[in-house]
Amino acid sequence: MTASTATTPDIDCVDLVRIFRTKDVEVQALQGLTLRVNSGEMVAVVGASGSGKSTLLNVLSGLDRPSAGRAMVAGHDMLDMGRAERVRFQRSSVGFVWQQTSRNLLPFLTAAENIAAVLAIARGPKGDARAKRVDELLDLLEVGDVRDRMTAEMSGGQQQRVAIAVAIANDPSMLLADEPTGELDEATSEQVLAAMRRINEERGLTTLIVTHDATVAAQVRRTVQIRDGRTSTEVVRSTRIDDFGDEHAIAEEFAVLDRVGRMQLPATFTESLGLRDRVRLTLETDHVSVRPGIGESPEQNEGTDRVDAPAAPIPNGDPS
Ligand code: ADP
Ligand code: MG
Repeated sequence: MTASTATTPDIDCVDLVRIFRTKDVEVQALQGLTLRVNSGEMVAVVGASGSGKSTLLNVLSGLDRPSAGRAMVAGHDMLDMGRAERVRFQRSSVGFVWQQTSRNLLPFLTAAENIAAVLAIARGPKGDARAKRVDELLDLLEVGDVRDRMTAEMSGGQQQRVAIAVAIANDPSMLLADEPTGELDEATSEQVLAAMRRINEERGLTTLIVTHDATVAAQVRRTVQIRDGRTSTEVVRSTRIDDFGDEHAIAEEFAVLDRVGRMQLPATFTESLGLRDRVRLTLETDHVSVRPGIGESPEQNEGTDRVDAPAAPIPNGDPS
């Protein structure tokens, strides 16, 4: 494949908007979010509580319909999808893992029966082939030892790993997870993430995790920060081998510029220079400068203090 070959991303959201209206209040949960996840990628969307993460995942999983914008998932248009297509999409194109284990597993079935049940519903393999597939999935997630236990008889980490097995049983092209480690302690959540990373690497399963937990971000190559319903910054992790053959982990943070040229300045930048309401933008030869507008912060209008909004990495690197 040449570099110019265009690949269709598995997730492609452009200017996604979701407005909730209740009586006289209007909540803009997503305010023009842009997100692209390529096939085989593993991405974490990180943001504070209320930033719109679950809203995004509900849209991507076809449980909720966006108010405006574009959302394509595994080749399906989420704004224009009939009921039959939606059912097919949810049964075979995507797998889900939710924060509440009770939403992932049927409590009166064992781990093995939970997996067998989704294979049965999707009219997957039958008889011996089904039993073999169940064992394969239990082995893959390293939960073979709890195959005959009910949900309540498993630890939180085991439940979430069985939930992943259930989610990928029908061989979806994508795994979507909403706070999959939200109810787990640190060590257990690392195990669950490691399992997701392994499946992503071994099977090339496109994986999107939304979480408020910044430690999850450190374990995923690409992290997208969501603020006020919009993707604001993106951290890309890579390793570099130096001249002495030593490996260094690099985390570069980028601001996300959308199609119409909007971006979010980090709060630390706007606060330190008193930037608000109106700012002065100047095009310099190789960057754009942002300064307080006249009357906003008089003492800072001398032209000495400014935030440079570079096209390239934000200078202070890793946010953690
Ligand atoms: P997160 O998952 O990042 O915590 P959510 O996507 O759940 O955030 O919520 C984003 C915003 O949208 C919040 O202000 C929340 O109160 C609001 N919201 C979410 N779902 C609904 C709904 N069904 N009706 C009204 N407001 C909602
Ligand atoms: Mg949420």
